[in-house]
Amino acid sequence: MKTHYKFCILIGLMMTVNSGPISRQPEEDDSYLKKFYNLTEQTGTASKGRFSQMSLKIAEMQKFFGLTVTGTMDSETLNVMKKPRCGVPDVAQYSTFGEGLKWKTNELTYRIENYTPDMTAAEVDDSIEKALQVWARVTPLRFTRIYSGTADIMISFGAGSHGDFYPFDGPDGTLAHAFAPSAGIGGDAHFDEDENFTFRSTNGYVLFLVAAHEFGHSLGLSHSSDPGALMYPMYSYRDPNSFVLPKDDVNGIQSLYGSNTDVIPDKPDPTPPVTPNACDPNLVLDAVTTLRGERVFFKNSFFWRVSTNNKAEQHLIQSFWPDAPDNIDAAYENTAQDKIFLFKDQKVWALYGYDIVQGYPKSLSSVGLPSTVKKISAALYDPDTGKTLFFVDNKYYSDGQGSYWKNYCFTYLFSGTRMFEYSTSSKKVLRVLNNNYFLPC
Ligand SMILES: [Zn+2]
Ligand SMILES: [Zn+2]
Repeated sequence: MKTHYKFCILIGLMMTVNSGPISRQPEEDDSYLKKFYNLTEQTGTASKGRFSQMSLKIAEMQKFFGLTVTGTMDSETLNVMKKPRCGVPDVAQYSTFGEGLKWKTNELTYRIENYTPDMTAAEVDDSIEKALQVWARVTPLRFTRIYSGTADIMISFGAGSHGDFYPFDGPDGTLAHAFAPSAGIGGDAHFDEDENFTFRSTNGYVLFLVAAHEFGHSLGLSHSSDPGALMYPMYSYRDPNSFVLPKDDVNGIQSLYGSNTDVIPDKPDPTPPVTPNACDPNLVLDAVTTLRGERVFFKNSFFWRVSTNNKAEQHLIQSFWPDAPDNIDAAYENTAQDKIFLFKDQKVWALYGYDIVQGYPKSLSSVGLPSTVKKISAALYDPDTGKTLFFVDNKYYSDGQGSYWKNYCFTYLFSGTRMFEYSTSSKKVLRVLNNNYFLPC
């Protein structure tokens, strides 16, 4: 598959206005670091050699989330702090709390102590049951529900101070927390009642997804720094109906409990998804486009967004555009309309911000392609001429007439694991680069 990516210097210059002013109060940063990174000193005077404890904790957080490690608060770090997340700290770099913090039996009990008014009781029961099954499916762990007495995993909803030393924080921010396996409060999972939990809507937090993550902690897993993992600390929407536990989480839980020996051979489970790795020398991208000044690289169910100063973040496509397709064929941005278009097989989706434009997906013929075209391999939009170019195998179609290339542009042609940098002024290939040249590795 070939992907074409045109990078215009002019566009690059327009985008640098992106980083907004830092508006968050210093006290809030303190409380985030205290909560998730064990920051114990609040005064800026406590210092360890050249670095204050605060800056060491900021650096630790930046490292966990793959940000540039500066040890100082910047807009990128603040943006991460604002995202909805789990209330369990990120201190561990490994994916478990340790061999000592696991259940000694595979037969565990759970009890739902109360319900949220956000959903029906049946929806809560179903979400909790399915969230536990996520882990049972890949391990010998089995869960039995009890209706009275003390269960291994006690499940409750509460707002603010709710009976432990970890009060919730109102809407957004911390969504839930859970305790590592042990007697007493160990294994218990608490959900912040100030959130709007939903059964499967994109409007609110899907209880199944939050609960499945928390039960990972209840069973002994810590946070993962893999952005595709269920145990990544940030909430990220994915379709609960098609959810399959990612490989990173399967590896984590099986390191504690082993695999499920009850799997029926002729009904194998779906393959656990693996998060694409920017350092994979065999990486072949699905599609590349610009998006409001950033560069966006698609691969399977994920994309990387790379800002003009080369900061990269990796996300699930669904977490940004819940109804957009995975494994796309091509993408391009129409800067005049401020939309991006995604192509998969004979369909095209138009996205505006986080929304799918009404009336989409449409057929390929809606962009003027003949009905004989079953799939395109790449698409390119030229902001100067307003023309779009569609690549189909070795041919291309344009939706208009006129000269296409502009002198100040480089064009990047992606083919397999290689990328060719082509100068449109000299009409020469300047460099042959690896596919992941623009990605963080
Ligand atoms: Zn968590
Ligand atoms: Zn609690």
